[in-house]
Amino acid sequence: MIKFKVIPLIIIISVVLISSCEAQHKNELKKPLVKIDKEKFKAEDPLAYKVLFEAATERPYTSDLLDNTETGVYVCKACKAPLFVSDNKFDAGCGWPSFDREIEGAITYDVDYKIGVPRIEEKCSNCGGHLGHVFDDGPKDTTGKRHCINGIALEFIPSDKQ
Ligand SMILES: [Zn+2]
Repeated sequence: MIKFKVIPLIIIISVVLISSCEAQHKNELKKPLVKIDKEKFKAEDPLAYKVLFEAATERPYTSDLLDNTETGVYVCKACKAPLFVSDNKFDAGCGWPSFDREIEGAITYDVDYKIGVPRIEEKCSNCGGHLGHVFDDGPKDTTGKRHCINGIALEFIPSDKQ
């Protein structure tokens, strides 16, 4: 008789375990926190819209921020969430503003297969806007990461204006 009682108990325990794993997984995916008025943003800045919300890539060597060496913070152009700081910017020679790390928690990662091979896509955790990709060929003496970011998806706020 005991055997028959144990089986339903095992089923209940498994269901509870599976659902708690799912909840944890959902947390990791991080849903964007704010909703952007995309129509308004598109009208104001169509090129930034194409990058942030249609995952386009700006042409290399076109960003005003590429050679910016001023001290300050780089925020998301759509929602103004701080994403990167100038201390972590470096010249990767790739044609896009590059950083060796993000501000903790500011970026959500995803995999994209747009060019046939998987690449790690970076999105603003706050609004879900596409920013660029991260690669493993960054500076070896720091993180080894190269966050290759579309300058047009960013806005720079110099330290003295924060
Ligand atoms: Zn954002």
